[in-house]
Parts: sequence; C-alpha cells; structure tokens
Amino acid sequence: MSAFNVAKFGGTSVANFEAMSRCSAIIENNPQTRLVVSSACSGVTNLLVELANGVQDAEQRLNIMKQLADIHDAIIDQLADPTKVEKEVHSMLDSIASAAEAASFQSSKKLTDHLVACGELMSTYILTQLMRERGVNTIRFDIREVLRTDNNYGRAEPQVEEIAKLAQEKLAPLCAEYVVVTQGFIGSDEQGNTTTLGRGGSDYSAALIAESVKASGLEIWTDVPGIYTTDPRIAPKAAPIPEISFSEASEMANFGAKILHPSTLVPALRHEIPVFVGSSKEPEKGGTWIRQQVENSPQFRALALRCNQTMVTLRSAKMFHAYGFLAKVFEILAKYKISVDLITTSEISVSLTLDKTDTSGGAPELPQEAREELQELCTVEVEHNLCLVALIGNHMETKGYAKEVFSTLGDFNLRMICYGASDHNLCFLVDAHESKAVIQKLHLDLFENRYK
Ligand code: ADP
Ligand code: ASP
Ligand code: MG
Repeated sequence: MSAFNVAKFGGTSVANFEAMSRCSAIIENNPQTRLVVSSACSGVTNLLVELANGVQDAEQRLNIMKQLADIHDAIIDQLADPTKVEKEVHSMLDSIASAAEAASFQSSKKLTDHLVACGELMSTYILTQLMRERGVNTIRFDIREVLRTDNNYGRAEPQVEEIAKLAQEKLAPLCAEYVVVTQGFIGSDEQGNTTTLGRGGSDYSAALIAESVKASGLEIWTDVPGIYTTDPRIAPKAAPIPEISFSEASEMANFGAKILHPSTLVPALRHEIPVFVGSSKEPEKGGTWIRQQVENSPQFRALALRCNQTMVTLRSAKMFHAYGFLAKVFEILAKYKISVDLITTSEISVSLTLDKTDTSGGAPELPQEAREELQELCTVEVEHNLCLVALIGNHMETKGYAKEVFSTLGDFNLRMICYGASDHNLCFLVDAHESKAVIQKLHLDLFENRYK
C-alpha cells in the first residue's frame, strides 16, 4: 500500500458524541488514513485506576461504576443504532464491576492492567459504530492480537519484531479493505494476558502500530493545535512550534511534556515516519510536524515539566577517593529493578531520581528492601514533592547559555542541576509548589521577551 496514514485520537478527542464525530470527519477528509488508534474516553482511565487500586466501600464502587456508565451511555444514546454497542459496552461494565470487587480484596498489577484496558476496549466499540453510521467502511480490531509485550504489567515492553510479524499477518490485510479502529495503550503478553504501556501510552501504541504496518505518516490528534514552547496551561503565552526535529521532540517527551508519551518517537524515528500533532477540535489551525531535518534550530526551543519526582540522596565518607562505591549502589538498584533517571555526584554523596511510574500512578517509590541494603553502605535520604524542569534547545554548550538561564532564576531554590550530558537539554529539580512559577519565569525571559 502506498501512502498509508495512522491517526491517533486522545481521551479528550473521543470524550463525547460531538468530539468523536469531529474525529470521524478528520478521518473522512483524508482517504490515506487506514488505521485509527483511540484512547479511552476522557476521565475513564482515571476512574478505572481508582477501582484497580482497590475501593473497599461498595457504595463508592457503585458510584464510580455509575460515572463510567454515564460517560459511555451519553454517547451511545446519540447513535442511530445503539443496540449492539450498548450490549457490548454494558457487558464490559459488568466485567469491570466484578474485577473492581476482586481488586477491593487484593489489587495486583496484572488485575490493574486487565481493568484499565477496558477503557480503550469500550471507546473503540462506540467509535467504530459512530464512524459506520457516518458512512465510513470501518472495522474494529482488538490490538491485543498484535501488540505483543513482555509481562511487566503496568509498563510493559513491546516486542517489536513479534508485533511487526503479527501486524503484517493480521492487521495490514484488513487495512486494505477497511478503515480499522483499534485501541491505544494496551497489549498482551505471550500467555494472552492483557498488559498496558503506562499512562499516556496510546501515543506510543500508535507509533508502534505505524511502524509495524510500515505507515508513511502518523498523526497525533489531541486537544491543542500542536507542540507549544511549553504547556499552554502553565504559560498562556506559549506559542505553537510549526516544525521540530525528532531529537528535540524526543527530549521534550522524555522530560515530561505530556503532549507525547516519552517513547512515542522511538519507533517513528526507527522508520523515519514523519509525525504530525494537531487539535481534533480545531484541525484547521494546523499543528506541529516532527521530522528528521528541520529548517530552524533555535537555541531555546521549549520548556517541559515533569512532577511527582522522587530524589534519593546517598551519603558516605567512604565514597571519598574510593572506587567501586557507585558500582555497589547500582548493583542494589538493578537487583530491585529500580531504573534511575538523573544522577549527580559530589565527593561524598550521590543524588539520583527514580524513573517514571507505571499505570497505577503516583510517585516512584524506593522499595523498603532496597533501602535497607543501601543503608548498609551509606545514609539514605528520600525526598518527594519535587518537579523536574527541562529546557530543550540546540547547541546548549554555547558560551553564556547557563548564565542567561540561571540569572533569571535567582529567586528560586534549584536542586540537582544536570547540564552537559546532552547539548539538547539542561534540567534541574525544583520544589513542586514553585514549579509552575519557574516555568512561567523562564518562559517570560527566554521566550516571550527574547522574541519580542
Ligand atoms: P491526549 O489525551 O490527547 O493524549 P494529553 O492530555 O495527554 O492529551 O496531552 C495534551 C496536553 O499536553 C495539552 O492539553 C497540554 O496541557 C499538555 N502539554 C504539555 N506540554 C505541552 C507542550 N509543550 N505543548 C502542548 N501541550 C502540552
Ligand atoms: N487511556 C490511557 C491514559 O489515560 C492511555 C492514553 O490515553 O494515552 O493514560
Ligand atoms: Mg496523552
């Protein structure tokens, strides 16, 4: 197949009947779009995570179930022929209710994935029917038949070769005949158990699927017309970026710009699939193209914010001029499968942040057993309520760069500064309560005032 487009729609894009209808219009307007990847309707995954974490009170569980039913029924009620979809969605709601009861006795990561996957499974039943009613030759496909992962529930690792094989066998032939609607975020392990790729994972699913069917384009439709210089909810004067390189956009995603799941661009980059980010509400506003080669590489490109950071500081006089200390620390961290994100060292201390959390949410924790083993080597201090601010740009090694950045931040308490490892970013931790003010001040000085 020649030009073949994959379009992904996020939660707000499929939040209600009108929003879903706008998605269908976008698909109808581009005959090259053969594959549609959908998130759960807005708010649904949060409710499912709450149930999966274990709600003891039966009445509260019922209340959440009612909210879930209301969100879906409000869309189903507006369909011309709701009978079949209503049955499908209600049967899922019944299975959610029993799984939620099981989770109230004992929750587990496996059960969580089984439960939270229902959001995408339900939204795709509805979107498929809605598109059919608008005259699109649509078929729903359960992506768990193709999106093979390991069994690391909550943050499963996709098995790229297996996915490519299964997609060529089962998915690509369907796309020749239909516009296929499928689920983001979810997959299945070798045993057929449902897995998830972590919160916000539908972007990543869409990129993996685009790669597996050798798509020529990937569109991410969301609630903002493209990638902005920072989150426009934090700095209202943030400006859209018409074109950005894969490296810059990857840094942004990695450092927490919620607009893209951190791993999204890995498959797209592997196959050099251009990615477009736009608003399903205002498609006429255009959006951002992410490509290998771009015309402009400004010194300051964007600011990203990632909250819920956990910083661990390890201190020991034994570290002074000794070798092997860090090796021992990392051996313990590896033993407990703790992935480290950022690290800085001094002569007698090491500070590190723990990597992102999984589908069940919250700040990453240092497991008690790991803490006890580390305490045999050194003192261990764990801090929460921190946010990571990242400044993304180009040629950040340039003289005067750091001075320009830090001189604007004199009033803030900066922690753990990482600079120099990449010439595309500079990042540091700040207290959560100051984080938005830090972004606003940096945006004002480095973006708004600079380009006046
Ligand atoms: P979806 O449900 O479509 O995946 P998300 O809520 O995950 O949407 O991501 C879109 C949101 O990302 C925007 O509403 C915006 O608040 C936030 N965001 C964070 N950083 C940026 C940025 N640099 N540019 C645009 N939006 C951003
Ligand atoms: N529905 C999932 C979430 O809310 C995945 C996604 O929307 O990307 O995290
Ligand atoms: Mg998202």
